Amino acid sequence: MKTGELEKILKILEREYKKWDVPVVTMIAERTHDPWKILVSTVLSGRTKDEVTWKASERLFSHAKTPEELLSLPVKTIEKLIYPVGFYRTKAKRLKELARAVVENYKGKVPDNLDELLKLPGVGRKTANLVLIHAFDKDGVCVDTHVHRISNLWGFVKTKTPEETEFELRKKLPRKWWKLYNDILVAFGQAICRPVKPRCEECPVKDLCPVKSRQGA
Ligand code: SF4
Repeated sequence: MKTGELEKILKILEREYKKWDVPVVTMIAERTHDPWKILVSTVLSGRTKDEVTWKASERLFSHAKTPEELLSLPVKTIEKLIYPVGFYRTKAKRLKELARAVVENYKGKVPDNLDELLKLPGVGRKTANLVLIHAFDKDGVCVDTHVHRISNLWGFVKTKTPEETEFELRKKLPRKWWKLYNDILVAFGQAICRPVKPRCEECPVKDLCPVKSRQGA
């Protein structure tokens, strides 16, 4: 798929995607505009349903709003507050390490550039890009499983890992789409272009979809 064709699809999906569920980290970002809370909810959201992430974030923030406050909580308390998010024990430890790093190395403020974010314990490229976009309104290319899958499905990239997809998108995707690309494709990938049983008949871009046209529909 060429860039022009992808942009036609994105223009349609840009109008449609708010009808579907907006990713939980985006909702938390829109409500709080707080880089620390956005970073924490991104960590909590891994392998966890949005609704569970939302409630766990609320419980945790009602006890600890800042990295300093989180650092003062015992790991066991953090575990209880974030249960039942996926891997809650590991995440509780990781959140405490994260809080310590932010307090000790960055004076309690989440850093606002990719290289520094990637130095934080347990922060990978997906989390760092998402924080950059939502917390600091900076350009980032956040590639989660839906972005990786759908970008390959359409043939816009031909990559094996989300990291390769990020680097390809940084070369090929026009910069004006960088911030929105993740939100649009996550909502679209959860609601319509699902990994199992995609809802092609209801898909607003089915006439432009190379997969659908290959199926002769
Ligand atoms: S037509 Fe089907 S495969 Fe193509 S983008 Fe839409 S849901 Fe996905």
